[in-house]
Amino acid sequence: MQMATSAVENDPARRTFSALHSYLRDELRLDGLVALHEPRFEDNAWNYVKDCLDSGWVSSVGAWVDRFETMCAEAADVPFAVATVNGTAALHMAFHALGIGAGDLVVCPPLTFVATANAIRYCNAHPVFVDVDDSTMGLDPLRLEDFLEHECERVSHGLVHRATGKRVAAVVAMHVFGNPVQAETLSAVCERFGLPLVEDAAEALGSRRRGRPCGSLAHVSTLSFNGNKLVTTGGGGMILTADEHLARRVRHLTTTARIAAGWEFAHDDLGWNYRLPNLNAALGCAQMERLSDLLAAKRRLNRHYYNLFHGIEGVSVLTDLPGSEGNHWLNAVVMPNKVQRDTLLTLSNDAGLQCRPAWRLMHRLPHLSTCPIAAAGLFQAENWVERLVNIPSSPFLAPPEVAA
Ligand SMILES: *Cc1c(COP(=O)(O)O)cnc(C)c1O
Repeated sequence: MQMATSAVENDPARRTFSALHSYLRDELRLDGLVALHEPRFEDNAWNYVKDCLDSGWVSSVGAWVDRFETMCAEAADVPFAVATVNGTAALHMAFHALGIGAGDLVVCPPLTFVATANAIRYCNAHPVFVDVDDSTMGLDPLRLEDFLEHECERVSHGLVHRATGKRVAAVVAMHVFGNPVQAETLSAVCERFGLPLVEDAAEALGSRRRGRPCGSLAHVSTLSFNGNKLVTTGGGGMILTADEHLARRVRHLTTTARIAAGWEFAHDDLGWNYRLPNLNAALGCAQMERLSDLLAAKRRLNRHYYNLFHGIEGVSVLTDLPGSEGNHWLNAVVMPNKVQRDTLLTLSNDAGLQCRPAWRLMHRLPHLSTCPIAAAGLFQAENWVERLVNIPSSPFLAPPEVAA
């Protein structure tokens, strides 16, 4: 009996849960549901939104949209930013503007939020899944190279995937929970094969790879400002690029491809109504003003969780890898196996501490299950997904700053 009890107490999931519980419930004295990620709005959020209401400029034209674009371009250190209604629309427009269409393939990681793959399908193209790596959780540059080298062949109009006969038109990488991918290596591989790299930086605003901001690491990058992201506009997204022609084109396409024609409504192409409303942008400007504080809080919380779970055998907290400085949007603990993962999920959620597994892998979703997969398989993605647990990560959960 004694033995059984201590075995249970030493179980990594129980130890992780009790450390998390004692931090959130005893130390921070939080009661009720502790959400995975919760926004808090301060001062200027109220002022800026009120300005929209007072002025009547609530819709998709207005000064806050321009200002929000400028703030995002500056944060990501890119020349052009185009605001959209959400991050999925930003991805859709990025793929569309790169000329991706029916019959094309786009290399995509299986470990991502469904929007990355859906945006490819909106262009009537298909994702081809290539595995992630065992350190960053993002698209593996070696697996990518292997796939392009051995399963594709160069023809006059580009690169063709031998098994399906389809053109490989682009590569998309995603920074999982804000942890940067090996962008410099992915870029080099893409360049070698003449493919544009798209960066789904939805989760990575403020993250850096080798000193460069995520959002500036590819030909075209996208952000999301959904309610659960580090910076939120309620709903919103952004397309970032240094390619002026592409920036002009997505700006045109997201505003119904309307052209100047006096009083008349005239459009020179099939466009979309994907422009971010001024009301949302106002909220975004107020949030962007606090970006460096939010990032600092995230860093402290990540450090705190790292120390909290440090001595628990078989359990680790994801933290910065060499060359990367993540925004720690969602903290994740890596459990030794699926049983332990599920125990931690059950204990935490039963206690009102919102914890979540990673996404179901893309190739396991019914609408994507027939998409091609690289011959090497998706073992790392499978391995990650069975063990990851996201834990409450709101910036206000961070321990206070220690005075120097
Ligand atoms: C949040 C997110 C998006 C975009 O989501 P929207 O809700 O459309 O803004 C895209 N990709 C990833 C990986 C995301 O996490």
